[in-house]
Amino acid sequence: MLHFAPYLGKTAIMMKLIYRLVATAFLLLSATFSSFAAEQSQTQVVMLGTGTPVPDPNRSGPSVAIITNGEAYVFDAGGGMVNRTVQAAQQYNLPELFPQDIKHLFLTHLHSDHIHDVSELAMHRWWGRPERLSVYGPKGLAEYTQHMASMIEIEADIRAAGTPEQLVTDRHGYLVNATEIEEGIVFSNNDITVEAFTVPHGEIRPAFGYKITTADKTIVISGDTAYSELLAEKAAGVDLLIHEVFSGDRLSEQSEFWQQYHGSSHTSASQIAQIANIARPGLVVLTHILFFNATSDEIVAEVKRSYDGEVVMADDLDKF
Ligand SMILES: [Zn+2]
Ligand SMILES: [Zn+2]
Repeated sequence: MLHFAPYLGKTAIMMKLIYRLVATAFLLLSATFSSFAAEQSQTQVVMLGTGTPVPDPNRSGPSVAIITNGEAYVFDAGGGMVNRTVQAAQQYNLPELFPQDIKHLFLTHLHSDHIHDVSELAMHRWWGRPERLSVYGPKGLAEYTQHMASMIEIEADIRAAGTPEQLVTDRHGYLVNATEIEEGIVFSNNDITVEAFTVPHGEIRPAFGYKITTADKTIVISGDTAYSELLAEKAAGVDLLIHEVFSGDRLSEQSEFWQQYHGSSHTSASQIAQIANIARPGLVVLTHILFFNATSDEIVAEVKRSYDGEVVMADDLDKF
């Protein structure tokens, strides 16, 4: 027995070492897995377009993506945003942003600068789309998307009758599920709740803002709007207030007509300060920027003149 004692002692030590190694590996693996899971479920907001109807090579038409738990929810589809989805998918390793895989699109209103890329998104490689695009938006959406579908019929016929290599998984994959919405909760699942509320935006009615709630973030997207007290109420204490803006300091440089139009349909930087003072969001993100020759810094300064919270000017592909 004495002879074997040292041997047994070594075995016990070895076993202990192996046990420790396995336990450490297990802990490391589970830590990696849980941080991966946290990363997966953590809500990320990507600006796909921060522009307006004024052409700007650096700013696509308005669009914001909210990514949570492996799914992208997109708000507005201004011209050029589909290219931005691909850039963002690659840059941030967010495959859920590839256009074919986007399933949910919410529109604030039907002004052309917010919808130019609805067809591009719905019809981007439509023949292999895993699921048709669902679009939510104001009255008039069904008619719009119906006409949109008819413009692709010729191509759809050709592809459907094409060579076997052109695999068409859904003959009508370019069609969208259009839902015309009213104020209130318009979409909800385990990961996200989307609430629409009306905003004042000149003659176009209804125009909506959206409040989005996920497991770890609250976000308000203004859409296009003049100063709105309801919006300030909805944005109370949210993490992100993504708001359209124009330079109030430079509005006087515009013609009488445009001063009247922008003054009554959009929100000046100093009005955003008023809204932010009521709502006190974690961060104000300025987008849909009507510069009127002001710089980004000047517009941010215009907000900060009477608001002491965090304010940033968004550029395309910014992530929050
Ligand atoms: Zn607009
Ligand atoms: Zn508009």
